[in-house]
Amino acid sequence: MRIGILTKKPDSYSVRRLIEAAAAADHEAIAIDYMRCWINIAAHKPVVMLDAKPLEDLDAIIPRIATISTHYGAAVVRQFEMMRVFTCNSSIAITRSRDKLRSMQLLSRRGVGLPVTAFGSSTQDVDGLIEAVGGPPLIVKVTEGTQGMGVVLAETRKSAEAVIQAFQGLNANFLVQEYIKESAGTDLRCFVINDRVVAAMQRRAAEGDFRANVHRGGKVEKVRLTPEERQIAVRAAKAMGLKVSGVDLLRSNHGAVVLEVNSSPGLEGIETATGKDVAGAVIDYVAKNQHTGAKADRLAL
Ligand code: ADP
Repeated sequence: MRIGILTKKPDSYSVRRLIEAAAAADHEAIAIDYMRCWINIAAHKPVVMLDAKPLEDLDAIIPRIATISTHYGAAVVRQFEMMRVFTCNSSIAITRSRDKLRSMQLLSRRGVGLPVTAFGSSTQDVDGLIEAVGGPPLIVKVTEGTQGMGVVLAETRKSAEAVIQAFQGLNANFLVQEYIKESAGTDLRCFVINDRVVAAMQRRAAEGDFRANVHRGGKVEKVRLTPEERQIAVRAAKAMGLKVSGVDLLRSNHGAVVLEVNSSPGLEGIETATGKDVAGAVIDYVAKNQHTGAKADRLAL
């Protein structure tokens, strides 16, 4: 089998490991810079070009689309779907998961536990937003943020008002969220493949920070999930229609709540923390399912 890994970072740990795992299973995986791909919409036969070369011999793709290139990257994935090439995450599921508000609406529709969240744009009812999540301390987040940037902890009503007004002044899309104190600067990353948690780790924030992102200096360690936590992670991945994903959970007093579902979860932290061959599990999933071709996404939203 020949697998294309759509990525802008061919030298990253994740891509290197996927290439290695494919070779170990007698497949061939190549890194493809999707930003260099182009598409001739008017052509009779759908094709993706990489510079001057048509990409015609791939059996499957593993998209690893960067947040800032979601729009273009998803269009390239969609073109492969039109060519009936198997993709481990569909273009619509990737786009869906990149929109924090849409994701939260879909997760709550499926009854997945979330931190109490309110979102508004230029509402004058700042007090209403603050009260909706139980008052301060609370979290204010820009919805396009990543790696913990744009996530602010407001400890008092005055600071909450100031942050909300600042985001409104910048025309940023934001949400206001209950602060899960008891998670104390830790979160859980569950790596879900085809409705099963294959590995999980805990991330712990650097001293003095409440954000557990590795990019913010967080540390990773192996963790044992409860059966309920596994079930929540799987339900969240299903609600988003993602077959390979990283589901982030916070342990709250009222059980685990979902923070977000990531469509290109990194492999370095999770493999280091757990010692598991997660790259091998992704390749195995692709190998077992690639004959099914591109499947329709039936979530309708
Ligand atoms: P990003 O997508 O930028 O990583 P997240 O929403 O995942 O943003 O938040 C980054 C980190 O901040 C999380 O990993 C978690 O440690 C912390 N955090 C986010 N939201 C909450 C919350 N409601 N309560 C407690 N901690 C939170």
